[in-house]
Amino acid sequence: MTDRLYYTDPYLRTFDAQVETVERSDDRLIVTLDRTAFYPTSGGQPFDTGTLGDFAVVDVIDRDNGSIAHVLEHPAPAPGPPAPSTAPRTPHPAPGTRLAGTIDWPRRFDHMQQHTGQHVLSAAIDHLFGVRTVSFHLGAAVSTIDLAREMTPKEIAAAEDDANRIVWEDRPVAIRFVTAEEAATLPLRKEPVRGGTLRLIDVEHFDLSACGGTHVARTGGIGVIAVAAWERFKGGQRLEFLCGGRALGRFRSLRDSVTASVRLLSVLPEEIPASLERLQADAKDQKRAMAALQTALSRFRAEELAATAKDVRLKPDATEPKVVESGFSRTSARGDTKLVLRAIDADANGLKALASAITAKPGFIVVLISTSRPALAVVARSSDVGVAANQVLTALTATFGGRGGGKPELAQGGGLDASPDAILEAARAQIVSDS
Ligand SMILES: [Zn+2]
Repeated sequence: MTDRLYYTDPYLRTFDAQVETVERSDDRLIVTLDRTAFYPTSGGQPFDTGTLGDFAVVDVIDRDNGSIAHVLEHPAPAPGPPAPSTAPRTPHPAPGTRLAGTIDWPRRFDHMQQHTGQHVLSAAIDHLFGVRTVSFHLGAAVSTIDLAREMTPKEIAAAEDDANRIVWEDRPVAIRFVTAEEAATLPLRKEPVRGGTLRLIDVEHFDLSACGGTHVARTGGIGVIAVAAWERFKGGQRLEFLCGGRALGRFRSLRDSVTASVRLLSVLPEEIPASLERLQADAKDQKRAMAALQTALSRFRAEELAATAKDVRLKPDATEPKVVESGFSRTSARGDTKLVLRAIDADANGLKALASAITAKPGFIVVLISTSRPALAVVARSSDVGVAANQVLTALTATFGGRGGGKPELAQGGGLDASPDAILEAARAQIVSDS
């Protein structure tokens, strides 16, 4: 059993103690002492860090047998040239020797602020609305309490006000030890989970809870309690809160982002949301206008491309067999089908829109390739042209890789691994009769 000095004096920062056991685990030492001011992870509160002798305390564990295990590491070597190999290494602590301990006080005091703030906030919520705190977690950046039911924003604000009233009244926070029998007669906020001697934290005339954690001596030490966020959680609600130094830290970071936003938007802080809404609406309008412009532009480009088309004679095997048999493909028979072959810097939708715009007029067959590699490809033809676009595309993917498909009127694909010129040349060979 380790004597827990923080039980009676949570403000104790330095102490000395006798080493009881030493174990090695890789390059770490695990040491137990006859007494300690180091708080082990328990009850939602993280462990203390600090130093024991020349070692850094990197974890503190509450063991089932009542002892507290300190996990020690050699401190990082000092900067500069390495010490000569003859220099004496820090001796490992041995059972029976004494070690001086120092806890990292800013870390511990932060935990005391958050933990005491939690007692006060949970009690305020319980008093005002009868809502129980189901669990508490003190995290590295934020702390949370899980409530048995969801509260409204108005209720949360009322509980926050009441909790801060208790903070500003600077009430004493006393530590009392009672037997389980005595505890049964006391108005504890929560049923204690263990028997034997109980440690109670008594916020004067406000809250009485069994707790093994570390707390500030007066509520004024909490500084301020601020609820930062809330969300539905397991049929109840999870509240995120910040006390003391953490609340100040959050205020600073919010201040910095608000200041930057105000500068960017040229509005007052309270006008930021409305200003962002306006920007979003503007962006939507611009997107719509841009789409209309793109449509107009592709029509324009389609006409431009169509004007450069060459008259070609179609290869018989590029045509749709049925269409040829029925004599439908008269334009190709006369050799006045217009062919557009082009590599264009556009995405799949852009290529397709352009090809469709060209083939909306009679007499065209279009092969458009993206300038990217692997390339995208679109093959399309006007309704009066007897070429199977999907067959042309299949021939291209068979030659250059990639995949794709479509209908006789329009087919598209991607992943063609060749230069645009090579693909366009192959497409021409598929479509045009040289004879
Ligand atoms: Zn506590």
